[in-house]
Amino acid sequence: MKNKKIINIYVCVLMLLFVFPLISRQAAPLEIEKVAGNVYCLYGPGGNIGILKTDVGILVIDSKYFRVAEKVMAKISKLSPQPVKYLVNTHYHGDHTGGNEVVGRNAQIIAHSNCKISLIGSLKAQKIKAGYTAGITTFDKEMKLKLGDENVELRYMGPAHTAGDTIVVFEKAGVIHTGDLFFNGLPPYIDVKDGSDTGNWIKIIEELHKEYPDYTVIPGHGKVTDMKAFLKFADYLGFLRKEVAAAIKAGKTKEQVMAEINFGSFKDIEDKGFLSKKSNVGWVYDEMTRVK
Ligand SMILES: [Zn+2]
Repeated sequence: MKNKKIINIYVCVLMLLFVFPLISRQAAPLEIEKVAGNVYCLYGPGGNIGILKTDVGILVIDSKYFRVAEKVMAKISKLSPQPVKYLVNTHYHGDHTGGNEVVGRNAQIIAHSNCKISLIGSLKAQKIKAGYTAGITTFDKEMKLKLGDENVELRYMGPAHTAGDTIVVFEKAGVIHTGDLFFNGLPPYIDVKDGSDTGNWIKIIEELHKEYPDYTVIPGHGKVTDMKAFLKFADYLGFLRKEVAAAIKAGKTKEQVMAEINFGSFKDIEDKGFLSKKSNVGWVYDEMTRVK
């Protein structure tokens, strides 16, 4: 009996040490997928990287975590021998900017002005001192870039997932990188403290769907998809807002709404770690009761 117990503990420890890390690593390999034209998506740990390959240089969207940045660069170099000319940060979160100093070391780094402010606020003092963010070029409303024969448009349409989200549009390839305005197949993170706005977030998605109905979509997380799926994601945000608003009006607490809500028609949005549909309810509640 005692031996069996020891064996069970031994098996558990082995699982924790070797098997689970392997599973989580296998779940997110660094893999490049061709999206359309000269635009590619690099999956793996952290936010999806968008890549535009041209004969005069490469444009990269987001840089994942620092811990995988050298591997990211190795993948990009395999795709093209050209240098990374531009690195666009869609927002300040570490799974999108952590690799900046590696991926962007010879590039012009571009971000929305709010993104730069939040990034400085989130970094440790020594990184700021080391000039980590000094070289970041900012824009307020939009910025247009021409690289090779592709026209790239960086757009800011107000707060959504954070206070400084950039949407990247590749006109010729017909591709849009949404940053974390889209988590495809999983519940989104909502950065209430940074100044998220789920109401405006829905409006942005509807506007983009109207402007680019046939574009291919690279989401911040999850698989490459189309505008129809992006619009469906806005339905989910709308559902959350409607449920939470009604509950607040009825005088319910956050915990009550989280316990009572029924996600029946959103079965294809699957909880993953701290990203759960219930946590979404909590964040929307926090956002709607936030004192500005
Ligand atoms: Zn994010």
